[in-house]
Amino acid sequence: MREILEAGLPALGIDVSCISNLEKFSTMLLEKNQVMNLTAITEPAQVATLHLLDSLSVLRGADFSGRRVVDVGTGAGFPGMPLAIARSDVSVTLLDSLGKRVRFLEEARQALGLENAVCVHGRAEEFAGDHRESFDIAVSRAVANLSVLCELCLPLVRVGGVFLAMKSTGCEAEVDAAGRAIRLLGGALRESLDYVIPGTDVTHRLVVIAKVSPTPKKYPRAFAQIKKQPL
Ligand code: SAM
Repeated sequence: MREILEAGLPALGIDVSCISNLEKFSTMLLEKNQVMNLTAITEPAQVATLHLLDSLSVLRGADFSGRRVVDVGTGAGFPGMPLAIARSDVSVTLLDSLGKRVRFLEEARQALGLENAVCVHGRAEEFAGDHRESFDIAVSRAVANLSVLCELCLPLVRVGGVFLAMKSTGCEAEVDAAGRAIRLLGGALRESLDYVIPGTDVTHRLVVIAKVSPTPKKYPRAFAQIKKQPL
């Protein structure tokens, strides 16, 4: 794992001094995965590339310096935990609706002494009640299709901020279908950035959505409604 990270991190502009903590987090993840469903990826080399370096590739999508970031549906901590480990200047809120995953993340956060991360058990659409437009950047990977995801994420982002959706290539139809949702929620599609995960031949895509106007108060709706009638 160390060699993969030593080669991959500089390509993302990240100092290699965070490798020990990335390794420590991976060890905790794989240990806990024995007793709880956290990840289907269990080969350390693949954890390094498909989880850690993929997560950190989100840095390509915006200037994260000193930003407040929310990771919606972080699961076992991706992309938010590697981000918090690699960038102490970024304040990261790790949000997930599954309590046992959040408890694992809190254990890891404490073990690593990460003061720039908070772990929150909650649903994004409810969290928006008290945290509306209070983040500079929202990130999310593998949580829902883009129109649903926009309703979960865009209300959390301040005007002038950005939502970075981590997707696979070939998501053109999904992005097209989300056009109306993006506009209704105060967003504007900026670009789709393809990147190769360092050390692999896997290409993923960052969909960059700018927050250009406030999200109307009626959004986000209750999840049942979001799912039943995506915008
Ligand atoms: N982002 C992680 C990754 O890429 O490995 C986890 C992806 S996992 C497939 C989706 C996660 O989203 C689950 O942990 C689930 O509990 C969470 N989730 C789904 N809907 C959510 C919501 N409305 N608010 C917060 N978390 C949600």
